Amino acid sequence: MATTKKRELDLKDFPPGTVTEFTTLVCLACIFDIFTKQLGLAPRTAFSEIKRHTPTTEELTSRSATRPYFDTDDKHPHCPYCGSTKRWLARFDTYCIEGGKTTDAARRTLIKKLPKGDQFLVVEKKSDSRAVLFEWLDTLGVNLDLTEGSWLLDATRNYLSRREPKTNWGEIFEEIRAVRRSNRLTEGSERDGIRLFLAPDLYGEAILIQYLVSRSHTHGGLTLEGRLTLMDLIRRLRYIGYLDRIGITERDPGEVFEKLIDHLAATRDWSRTSPAGKDLSRGRAGTASGRGKKVSTGSGSDRVGRSKKSAKESSKSKTPALPEPDEIITEPVKLYYLIDRRDFLEKSKSVYASYA
Ligand SMILES: [Zn+2]
Repeated sequence: MATTKKRELDLKDFPPGTVTEFTTLVCLACIFDIFTKQLGLAPRTAFSEIKRHTPTTEELTSRSATRPYFDTDDKHPHCPYCGSTKRWLARFDTYCIEGGKTTDAARRTLIKKLPKGDQFLVVEKKSDSRAVLFEWLDTLGVNLDLTEGSWLLDATRNYLSRREPKTNWGEIFEEIRAVRRSNRLTEGSERDGIRLFLAPDLYGEAILIQYLVSRSHTHGGLTLEGRLTLMDLIRRLRYIGYLDRIGITERDPGEVFEKLIDHLAATRDWSRTSPAGKDLSRGRAGTASGRGKKVSTGSGSDRVGRSKKSAKESSKSKTPALPEPDEIITEPVKLYYLIDRRDFLEKSKSVYASYA
């Protein structure tokens, strides 16, 4: 689709991962059918109704589209409902921009530059940081091939890109074959050849993300620590001191889990750096090129000289030098959906012309 290439919006002023792109095709034959046969409108009236039509953001971003919308990666797509080919198919490109200090200026500039009229539509929606996190996890899950061993590394890379967007994780992960928990580092990460060592908090969040992505596909979730039930996961996170450091003192697994999600969703770093459009597309490539990579399950980690006892002690928060728990902000996040209607308008015009 060469014509759509040159019309892509310039998103270079947005920090990586703050814009997620969606493409949905709509079958004009089906739309005309709905308006003329089902609603009984004359073609002319149908056309003027259709021109005004814009799908809801759910229809544009949902992965299970219904007639007349559909998703496809096919180069020569056909409507799955009526079999119509290219000239009947129009595309909506939707850009979901996460509101916030890092994107507000770029968003205003971008919107100002767009052609006036009905070619673009901007829809604002309030979301909360939890919903943003789950949306991100959902997109991540769809883009990872969970049957490939390398997905654990891909998930870790995507998480780190969100957590520390200034680092070029794509480049680092080209060489990395194993991710381990470091006993020395208290923050950040350190590379040692093909191994990447993460400070316990980063490591804890990485396995939490892996658990969240894979738990719906299997019993428990698959992580760098192997397959874990929720209880196992909580035990690991307590053992590495993560629960203490973020101030989770509850014992009930359900409550701990809720607090973990709230924390993950709402910590400052998180809502500022955000999801994954661009980065996930790199992730897809990464998965393909990473075939055959062996992933360590952490059995040979650098965990030395740590007994189970020290885990118990640390869970009682005896250590005086604990850093401040991350501040939790449950601030609603604003999402801006920028809907490109140009292809839809042009195609429906030419389709109508062929009708008349
Ligand atoms: Zn159709």
